[in-house]
Amino acid sequence: MAQRALFNFPLAFFDKMERLMGAEFAAFRQSLERPLHQALRVNTLKTNPAALRQTLPFTLTPVGDWEPAGFHLHDPNRPGSHPAHAAGLYYLQEPAAMTVGALADPQPGDLVLDLAAAPGGKSTHLAARLGDRGLLVANDIDRSRVPHLAQNLERWGARQVLVTSATPTQLADTFGPIFDRVLVDAPCSGEGMLRRTGGHEWDEGQVAACARRQQLILDTAVSLVRPGGWLIYSTCTFSPEENEAVIGRFLQDHPRFEIETTLPIPGSQPGRPDWANGNPQLARTVRFWPHHFPGEGHFVAVLRCGQTAEPAIPRPFVAKRGDWRHWRTFARDVLAVDWAEERLHEVNGRLYLLPEKAIDTGSLYLVRYGVLLGELRWGYFRPDHHLALTLRPSEVQDPLSVSAEEATRYLRGETWAVAGQANGWRLLTLAGVGIGWGKVVNGRLQNHYPRGLRR
Ligand code: SAM
Repeated sequence: MAQRALFNFPLAFFDKMERLMGAEFAAFRQSLERPLHQALRVNTLKTNPAALRQTLPFTLTPVGDWEPAGFHLHDPNRPGSHPAHAAGLYYLQEPAAMTVGALADPQPGDLVLDLAAAPGGKSTHLAARLGDRGLLVANDIDRSRVPHLAQNLERWGARQVLVTSATPTQLADTFGPIFDRVLVDAPCSGEGMLRRTGGHEWDEGQVAACARRQQLILDTAVSLVRPGGWLIYSTCTFSPEENEAVIGRFLQDHPRFEIETTLPIPGSQPGRPDWANGNPQLARTVRFWPHHFPGEGHFVAVLRCGQTAEPAIPRPFVAKRGDWRHWRTFARDVLAVDWAEERLHEVNGRLYLLPEKAIDTGSLYLVRYGVLLGELRWGYFRPDHHLALTLRPSEVQDPLSVSAEEATRYLRGETWAVAGQANGWRLLTLAGVGIGWGKVVNGRLQNHYPRGLRR
């Protein structure tokens, strides 16, 4: 059995890194013994950094101009337990992971595919950068990981989103080359997360297996990128086999792609052509090392597809029509927004608001298309939590603003007296954003926060 070293990693890992890094190895090794970098990204779909900083009891400092919504957290006291987190006002994400969305740089209105998206850190970032315009397809091959992805996007309040669970080949067969951005945040050996995970199984065989799988995923992802679009490849590992070598081979096999020069991020380091096939373009890939950058380990390559053909035109999605009287009654009594009936779609009694750019999905396994508005039942409509998290207060006739203390009680599932309030559904809001539904019945506020999410 291999001898164990720091963080339970075999010594072979450190030997390999020392061989690769030479004089720099000591600084790298030391950096792994320093505390983790905690950080959060503000949800710019719901708030802005200045407003959120006034609400949160944490000390925050900007990660840098490259991500205006990103902040280091200096005194994290259970930052995932604050009600503002449940309201989707921020996502906890370490700074190196934030560089991927920043370098992918999707533009509002773009068609974006996050091919390996669960649990959704980068998807929430892409949705925010899109300004919730265009369409984000968030996919993960692993069905057991997709509910968490859907839940994170639901909390984020993004509307222009499709969540699927499919293989890269199924996606390519269904959509073809339509996407402005395709992100492959690849499954990898995770060496860059060493400090966070506290060590895991590692050997050269696993690195080689990951590299083979990454190559296969990229070879398929290539046929989803529109001419002129970007394929963004990222890993959270250090091994050249999974980084420069994968991209070096990809460029050989797909000569219409070139590595794009990306936004300079302080502390980033160029990729190493000498660790792969020597292609000088590989110096335009980007590495984040923990001894140079205040975050964990990451690698990013932005590959631009040469403009050689007309982009394919996605087919529109055909919505399933139904009897929506009870939804209309709810919308008339509670909401202050009027969504076109053509965007409503019903599946098994569940009513969805489709994204503005809803595209045909063939026979793909759909987890969520747009916003789950609620359930149509015999005689009434019951709004879903997803709708509460996506509504702006101006889209509701009479929101019920609650304090942080009341929000905490609500998240625990408590009910309380609300004298003088008319009966009916109410959107509870915290710091101006929806946190969930309540229903006033004879002077008491019934709690409709989903049982599975209660604290
Ligand atoms: N992008 C995610 C985020 O920021 O939260 C993390 C993604 S994680 C690094 C890699 C994902 O790739 C996993 O969720 C895994 O289920 C998925 N995956 C594994 N094998 C795959 C394959 N053959 N094709 C596509 N995705 C795969």
